[in-house]
Amino acid sequence: AATLFIIFVLLSDIFTLYRKSHRNYLISRENAIRDPLTRLYNRSYFYDNLTRQLRTASDRQPVSVLVCDLDYFKRINDTFGHLQGDRVIQFAADVLQTHARKDDVAARIGGEEFALLLVNTTADDAARIAERIRGAVAVSDPQNLRPSVTLSLGVYTTSSPQSEAEMCVKRADEAMYQAKANGRNQVVRWAE
Ligand code: GH3
Ligand code: MG
Ligand code: MG
Repeated sequence: AATLFIIFVLLSDIFTLYRKSHRNYLISRENAIRDPLTRLYNRSYFYDNLTRQLRTASDRQPVSVLVCDLDYFKRINDTFGHLQGDRVIQFAADVLQTHARKDDVAARIGGEEFALLLVNTTADDAARIAERIRGAVAVSDPQNLRPSVTLSLGVYTTSSPQSEAEMCVKRADEAMYQAKANGRNQVVRWAE
């Protein structure tokens, strides 16, 4: 009975150790792929996923990429301070996350720049989603808990499995810069 007891104690110790190290592994894996300020995915995770999704892109399964950047964000930092600026970034990130579906990837790809990978999404649907995000960010905060902000968004859609991730983001980015040039707080689709 004593031997059995010792074996039991050893096994339960091993099990506890295993559970602990597995939990630590999961936590460090999450930290490696997420941005600490917003808890959105980071840039490299976004690119890895986009590359994977593009392999199966087709007319029936188009892949859309949305790139967005906060408008006149420097002014927000200068007027309200960096801490309030961070809260605005978190707010925009939450809006983006809310509009991401199960297999979509919402990421922070720069200081106040975000990207959303929309799987299985046509150009029309992507533009509609982008417009919804734009509207949700632009809505004013009646209690004035954070400074108001707007977002410029660019959208690019591909049906070709030959598309490269870099190229998709570059084109969505070009469309986003067009949105800036057109006066900001708007959505532009990439066009040749
Ligand atoms: P535009 O409409 O052309 O995008 O104007 P902008 O002022 O947003 O332009 P720009 O991209 O040059 O400015 C981005 C600013 O974002 C500069 C930088 O100080 C600020 N920023 C970048 N990362 C962070 C961050 O993590 N927190 C805060 N508070 N500010 C940040
Ligand atoms: Mg900006
Ligand atoms: Mg920027």
